[in-house]
Amino acid sequence: MRHPIVAGNWKMNKNAEETEDLLNDLINQLPTDKEVEIIVAPTFINLASAVEHLEFTNISVAAQNMHQAENGAFTGEISADMLKSIGVHTVILGHSERRSLFGETDAIIAAKVNQALKYHMRVIFCFGEELKERQEKQHFAVVENQLRNGLFQLEATAWENIVLAYEPVWAIGTGETASPEQAQEMHEFIRTTIRQQYGQEVADNTAILYGGSVKPDNAGEIFSKPDVDGGLIGGAALKAADFAAIVNAAG
Ligand code: PEP
Repeated sequence: MRHPIVAGNWKMNKNAEETEDLLNDLINQLPTDKEVEIIVAPTFINLASAVEHLEFTNISVAAQNMHQAENGAFTGEISADMLKSIGVHTVILGHSERRSLFGETDAIIAAKVNQALKYHMRVIFCFGEELKERQEKQHFAVVENQLRNGLFQLEATAWENIVLAYEPVWAIGTGETASPEQAQEMHEFIRTTIRQQYGQEVADNTAILYGGSVKPDNAGEIFSKPDVDGGLIGGAALKAADFAAIVNAAG
């Protein structure tokens, strides 16, 4: 059965020293008595030290991205094998910033998902509609397509290693949040779409996180919705007290 998850996406923030400081603050401030899985995703260069730093804690480490190829002439890229070799077992794929700023298509993201799963990694798969698509009432169609194109090539058993993160692009880093009702409506739609494709068990067992300007003061209401299983947190993940409050709201 699925369980609550709160993951912090640090994006291109925090140098080595700042990473260490934030990890120490998190170790001191995050609850240890909650049934909430806690994940942080620092930048590539700080992943190895973060894994080491968090070894005896209840916090695990994810990468923010990876390349879909095994290895080779891909200057500046990082492979699944490399992540695994430093003890990183989870990767965020398909984030809207990767899609919009770095040209990642559904096909590229599907290839990355396949490669991550080949290495028995867990994928936090991000998807969500843009503002214009919602205004044009295309949001369900867009989300369904992203899901189908990115993940429906998988066998049902592969879904054990998939966590979904619905992130309406208009709510990411903008201070705009989907209302708890909007989040629940979309999460329910996503779960129904998975059920139609893979059956009840896969649908019930798949965690669907919400992402988009989640803060301590709105987390509780959003997480209280039945199909919202936690959050993917950007800005508020950079402050230990805020992230701890959000984790508490999920538990
Ligand atoms: C994100 O980047 O995944 C995100 C949800 O960011 P923020 O919480 O800052 O909107």
